Amino acid sequence: MSAGPVCLYCQGSNPPGQTSCRHCGMPLPATAAHAEQRRLRRFTGFCIGLTLFCVAMFFWLPRS
Ligand SMILES: [Zn+2]
Repeated sequence: MSAGPVCLYCQGSNPPGQTSCRHCGMPLPATAAHAEQRRLRRFTGFCIGLTLFCVAMFFWLPRS
């Protein structure tokens, strides 16, 4: 359920914002959190685009 980064070495979950693993002490991949944020932003942009597309279709298509 934790949304924090997962250690690549011991597969342990860590709280968000952690820079090193609390289980084994290895540095956590900082890019993983950024990739997650980028993925989330792309998904949000896709949802907004889809909504705009639906609104455009709603007004563009003839009503019966
Ligand atoms: Zn670890």
